[in-house]
Amino acid sequence: MVLEGKSVFGGIAIGRLSIYNKKENQVKRGKITDVEAEITRFTDAKETAKEQLKGFYEKAVKEVGEVNAAIFEVHQMMLDDLDYVESITNMIRTQEVNAEFAVASTGDNFSKMFAAMDDDYMKERAADVKDISNRVISILQNAENGSVTGEKPVILLADDLAPSETVQLDKSKVLSFVTRHGSTNSHTAILARTMNIPALIEVDIKEEWNGKMAVVDGYTGTFYIDPDEDILKKMQEKKEEDIKARELLQELKGKEDVTVDGKHIKLYANIGGVKDVASVLANDAAGIGLFRSEFLYLEADNYPDEEAQFQAYKTVAENMAGKKVIVRTLDIGADKQVDYFNLDHEENPAMGYRAIRICLDRRDIFRTQLRALLRASAYGNIGIMYPMIISVDEVKEIKKIVESIKTELTEKGIEYGEVEQGIMIETPAAVMISDLLAEEVDFFSIGTNDLTQYTLAIDRQNSKLDNIYDSHHPAVLRMIQKTIENGHKAGCWVGICGELGADMTLTETFLKMGIDELSVSPTFVLPIRKLIREMSTK
Ligand code: PEP
Ligand code: MG
Repeated sequence: MVLEGKSVFGGIAIGRLSIYNKKENQVKRGKITDVEAEITRFTDAKETAKEQLKGFYEKAVKEVGEVNAAIFEVHQMMLDDLDYVESITNMIRTQEVNAEFAVASTGDNFSKMFAAMDDDYMKERAADVKDISNRVISILQNAENGSVTGEKPVILLADDLAPSETVQLDKSKVLSFVTRHGSTNSHTAILARTMNIPALIEVDIKEEWNGKMAVVDGYTGTFYIDPDEDILKKMQEKKEEDIKARELLQELKGKEDVTVDGKHIKLYANIGGVKDVASVLANDAAGIGLFRSEFLYLEADNYPDEEAQFQAYKTVAENMAGKKVIVRTLDIGADKQVDYFNLDHEENPAMGYRAIRICLDRRDIFRTQLRALLRASAYGNIGIMYPMIISVDEVKEIKKIVESIKTELTEKGIEYGEVEQGIMIETPAAVMISDLLAEEVDFFSIGTNDLTQYTLAIDRQNSKLDNIYDSHHPAVLRMIQKTIENGHKAGCWVGICGELGADMTLTETFLKMGIDELSVSPTFVLPIRKLIREMSTK
């Protein structure tokens, strides 16, 4: 059987399925006589719960870092929330009920109240208040929480997992988890992701799967139950490749991108959309150097509106948590055709109506995108870059448009952040006037795919010319050198985001030229980091 879930973290898991048995706390209402003693029982249990959570916090900090562990601090604070505590003690006092019952009722009420709120953040707190209440009840009842039993590691099936359950799992016994509920941004999902366990959510799990053989492909979101030999073999191979990549990752994760002689470089990643961010994070890139925003247009049947774009850029910026995210404005035309733009047929589309030329002509489309980008810049560290630039006038015109949108946003009281603005160097014209262009922008990003095409006058789409489409041509390398020199003279940083940036035979050359940034496909980040850390630029 093959099912599709929503992946919250990549990776491959092969093993038997096991249903996670939550120990439901059976709470009975009881009449008490000594109110003060019952309140003390509750207060003591609450303090023990806080101690446990403190322990989880420390465990989680070690395993997944402070940011992701923060939920356990939130839980400790929730346990001290005045409304919550008063509701429980009041109930014990006025209704003379046992502490377990007062905690369960209050937990239920608060959870329902949060769930009904029109706010995603508060909705997620509904599960949290249930989780803390269950903890206190377990302590009051001396009960144990759910656990994974058995010798062999399993793929865990659950309705949902609370963060405290996730952190308590014996990870040596869990290969993956598959749940019915949970959101991609829930703390559980974040924890799973950072714990390196492939995980799927939104799978309609069934009790009868317990004990069956299964495969979770966290890269595609596919869930195979009772897979045949062929699938097992294929997945085993995929898993081995994955393990190799992860070993490299473990070794280099968190290490600086610095050469033996101390030259630091920004090693960023290229993405085509929101879904690629997981791979950027998994490969530990220091930022995103090229977000090809045209994919938002290519995937849609009509112009994506400001809100849809804003959400996409905001999500990427937030997930990158303060790391740089450079979004390239719409680059369609030439090899990237979008039906609803109704572009005329052209004899030479690569040299035709494309990229910034369209944006400066159809201002409404450009302004929509820029507004979405500026709004999203309030949520992270966004940079904007413009493709296919050939003149200083184009850049001046773009900057005027950006300024006018900033004014509009300010007038409406809409926030935006500081954005770095840069241009792609993809044409020989841009290289030749890079000294002048550098006066206008914060950075250059060299698009070697197009720069090679225009420098050598070779259509990058024409496979017949593949053998002479040579990005190592001295003309291309000199263009890069000149761009770096001119950029630096005017205080611009200079990067490469074309495919040549990932060419490891040239990494040393680029570093010696003085390149400041390389932006490559996520999977190249760690191999290049390894190379950089072993090389000297002297
Ligand atoms: C380039 O031209 O090098 C580049 C990065 O842009 P694209 O490949 O999207 O044209
Ligand atoms: Mg290009």
